[in-house]
Amino acid sequence: MRRGEMRPLMISVFLLHASKNPKHTYLLMHANNVTPDFAIRTRNLWKTYSVGGNDPVEALKGIDLDIPRGSIFGLLGPNGAGKSTFINILADLVNKSSGTVEIWGSDIDHARRQASAAIGIVPQELTIDPFFTPRETLELQAGYYGVPAPERRTAEILVALGLADKAETYTRRLSGGMKRRLMVAKALVHRPPVLVLDEPTAGVDVELRAQLWDYVRNLNAEGITVLLTTHYLEEAERMCDRIAIINNGDVVACDETNKLVRELDRKEISITVTEPLAEIPASLQDMGARLESARTLVIRYRPSEMAIAKVLTAVDVAGLSVADLSVSEPALEDLFLEITRKVAN
Ligand code: ADP
Ligand code: MG
Repeated sequence: MRRGEMRPLMISVFLLHASKNPKHTYLLMHANNVTPDFAIRTRNLWKTYSVGGNDPVEALKGIDLDIPRGSIFGLLGPNGAGKSTFINILADLVNKSSGTVEIWGSDIDHARRQASAAIGIVPQELTIDPFFTPRETLELQAGYYGVPAPERRTAEILVALGLADKAETYTRRLSGGMKRRLMVAKALVHRPPVLVLDEPTAGVDVELRAQLWDYVRNLNAEGITVLLTTHYLEEAERMCDRIAIINNGDVVACDETNKLVRELDRKEISITVTEPLAEIPASLQDMGARLESARTLVIRYRPSEMAIAKVLTAVDVAGLSVADLSVSEPALEDLFLEITRKVAN
């Protein structure tokens, strides 16, 4: 099999050539059949911004993150936490101060081009040339990454992101939501296995937001790893299977979404009684009940420490008759506030 024997040599000659030509990042990536356990890994990642005269800002203080291949991973944190800095380092828009970053198994210090080829980034700021149409924008981007014409899927991406009927419109005429979707489209032309979205729903209306998330879910179902930041914590809770919370450049929590929520170990039972209450009965006072209205008692409890039956017994002992009852779990919002408050104190 002389021909077979030739192949590896030909590929390595090709890769040698490709690695010198920025246009061949696409081919380089797709010749490289790697499936790492983690789409992104960072170790002790620091970023200090030093802007002339001002005090240096430590935006990232030793971030260790492992983002599993195939996950939808949420990066949450208040404004100024360091989310965009983290993402802009992945995007090669910001230089890290120290630490290591691996994207799809490629270290950004040693294999920046492979790392970049493996990732599609939608930055927080809109960066689209207003004088091109969406179709031209995607074709140019595909050219930039060296995607061969037969492998381009401009039309497919335009349809998927609901931009097909705007394909020939100057992008300056597109709405904010459409521009945002075009940014997502741009990030996908080189078929990266990892898609990163920095605050993708900022300024996008509710309907389009739902569409965008559907599309992101579909991409994930096809195997694309998604990293996103968002301020809509409820959305993160619904979208992400893992969440890292960062605050002041530190990771303060990182776990599967449902574990993070469960960790809070807090539920709230709301009991509406048939007769108005003048005061909280003693048996319920012991449990920290509060009166939300004359007929509604609210009790916060830890499910791991107290069974709900105990609450109901106390209600019974107090001689109250229940008209209605509901139990709620903490939203990620509460968790987020709790953790950031804990860290602040
Ligand atoms: P987030 O995206 O979570 O809101 P950023 O990463 O944008 O946070 O910002 C983190 C910190 O770094 C903030 O204190 C911000 O003011 C600072 N920062 C961000 N970009 C720069 C920059 N280019 N120069 C100086 N400081 C910056
Ligand atoms: Mg940001």
